[in-house]
Amino acid sequence: MMKETMNGFERTDAALKWKIPDRVPVIPQNSDMAICLSGYGMYECLHDPKKLANALLQAQEQMDYDGIMLGPDAAILSEALGCEVVYRENNPPVVVSHILENLSDVDKLQPIDLSKNKRIQTWLEASKIILEKTKGKVFLICRADQGAFSLATLLRGSQQLMLDLVMGEDKERVLTLLKYCNEVHIQFAAMIKSVGAHATTCGDAYCGPGLISPDMYKEYALPFQQIASKRITQEIGIPYSIHICGTTDLIHESWAQSGATFFEIDHCTNIKSLREVTYGKIALFGNLNTSSLCLSEPAEVQQACRELFDIVNPSTGFILSSGCSMAGNTKIENILAMVEVSKKYPYSKI
Ligand SMILES: [Zn+2]
Repeated sequence: MMKETMNGFERTDAALKWKIPDRVPVIPQNSDMAICLSGYGMYECLHDPKKLANALLQAQEQMDYDGIMLGPDAAILSEALGCEVVYRENNPPVVVSHILENLSDVDKLQPIDLSKNKRIQTWLEASKIILEKTKGKVFLICRADQGAFSLATLLRGSQQLMLDLVMGEDKERVLTLLKYCNEVHIQFAAMIKSVGAHATTCGDAYCGPGLISPDMYKEYALPFQQIASKRITQEIGIPYSIHICGTTDLIHESWAQSGATFFEIDHCTNIKSLREVTYGKIALFGNLNTSSLCLSEPAEVQQACRELFDIVNPSTGFILSSGCSMAGNTKIENILAMVEVSKKYPYSKI
């Protein structure tokens, strides 16, 4: 094992800036797992910043990874905008009703001040506590989920929005909706920057080729991702990531035009080809199979990490993580295995 010369913050910061860290940074997307391990309930953690922060801090201390990703659920903004959400014991809350029954309801959308929302306050206060307790040693990513396309999908309902796109009868209102959602997302990102988090993210789960065509991605998702990336990285001034669920191979060339700082890569995606089109400009974050992290043995996870390193050449612009949010029952030993591989395999030995 090589002697470590950087802490988790420095290591991650270096990788995102395309400098050479002392080893590959590891940041699991494990807020739900941390909450399950903490013994607190999901609902209480999502409404009590001290409990949420404690859960995330305890998991980081136990498994010694380089950064904390605060983002236990993807329903936070749609709930703030009025969608009904159901809370579950060991899983993140889900959206069960949509506020835009008719596309014409888009005309009734009002500007929102997110600072008044209890759940948003919980994430921001928890971020502050984590930053205070970790004293600059651990990299903190706080999610600003969801991005424009996915938030619009949750407000309208996925089937309805798909119909709106395919019928194309009221494109103006669809674009107005996407613009509205993007502003809400950017407002959240600005609040995350204001409390001092080191990076933020856009989960744009629904805009991949599994749900819409590459042409639709270019028309309805990419332009809003480009606006969000530019404003968040340049005007607000915080590193920014985009995550798209599923296989994204068909949109790699266009996705690479988004201007984000890094991408969280789904395990289904061909990371080799994405690495080629993003190398030197967009760092990659991923992309172990989340199911394997629940079910496989640590030796298998270590092997998967080594194979991933062989493909991406992780000497810079790369952070080892999962391909999507980890489930609450992810095995501790498997995250320890990820950290161990990173510690044991400095670049010179790969
Ligand atoms: Zn995903």
